[in-house]
Amino acid sequence: MFEYHLRAFYLPILFLALLASFPASSPAEVLRSMRYTPRSPEEARAWQKNLRTEFYELLKLEDLVQSGHRVAFASAVITATTREGYLFQEIGFQTTANRRIHAILTLPSDSTARHPAVVCIHGHGGDRFSTYQEGIYNAFAAELAKRGVVTVAVDVGQHEVYEEGRTLMGERLWDLIRSVDLLVAMPEVDPSRIGCAGLSLGGEMAMWLGAMDERISAVASSGFLTRMDQMEEGHCPCWKFEGLRGLADWADIYSLIAPRALMCQNGLQEPATDFTVPLAREAMEEIKLIYKDLGAEDRVSLAVHEGASCYRPADSHRLL
Ligand SMILES: [Zn+2]
Repeated sequence: MFEYHLRAFYLPILFLALLASFPASSPAEVLRSMRYTPRSPEEARAWQKNLRTEFYELLKLEDLVQSGHRVAFASAVITATTREGYLFQEIGFQTTANRRIHAILTLPSDSTARHPAVVCIHGHGGDRFSTYQEGIYNAFAAELAKRGVVTVAVDVGQHEVYEEGRTLMGERLWDLIRSVDLLVAMPEVDPSRIGCAGLSLGGEMAMWLGAMDERISAVASSGFLTRMDQMEEGHCPCWKFEGLRGLADWADIYSLIAPRALMCQNGLQEPATDFTVPLAREAMEEIKLIYKDLGAEDRVSLAVHEGASCYRPADSHRLL
């Protein structure tokens, strides 16, 4: 409930502070020029490659994608505690040559084999600790950690751009991509089994990470599937950046995850008008087009639950 109260307080302030700084859609603007339509598997993969290239440019991440992976982590443990079946650490590492971030990293007590890993992502009003806590997240990251999964969580809720020449969404995404770099470099992690999961803004960022980083093999995106039109009114505008709507809608960005596993979750009691089940069903029908074209219809699903905006570990743990 704390998260709800915080969000209710926080969002109106954000609207006022940020509304002027995000691009508005003009009626004359061509929307969704790269909308996915059914095509051959080869053409579908070419469409994905082209759309990713466009997004890396819009997000101002081209240079980091080329050379940013090679920046030394210089990681250091800040705190470490033993929890039920796993080690819970707060660490610091370099996300770019000039920017250092804090993250939560958990390791199973039994580290004799390589483990799957999941990037766990919080929503508005949360932080890197949130997905390990009860409430709307149902401590899904802690649940995964107990089950022998390596987990990592960073802060994505900032509304300021830290480095000159970057974008807000680009920096959020890059910090998640660097979390994957960190996992891939760990001897405890099986690099072929890295997933990501999140709720609300975290569901959005799980979508972006899965869409743009092909090392992610499974995505659980909760409380976010909808249409962009629906988010133009009343939602914190941090989802939007210059050029986004001209290229795609959310269904197209989720389509970049195909043929890798994707589960979306939406609740029947969702209080926000943005993420209702009927809207999610519409968008999911569009996402299924590319999964069908790539012969992977069994790897995409929409899990409708009875709750509000909350993460449902039981639905997604099979996937992750
Ligand atoms: Zn926001």
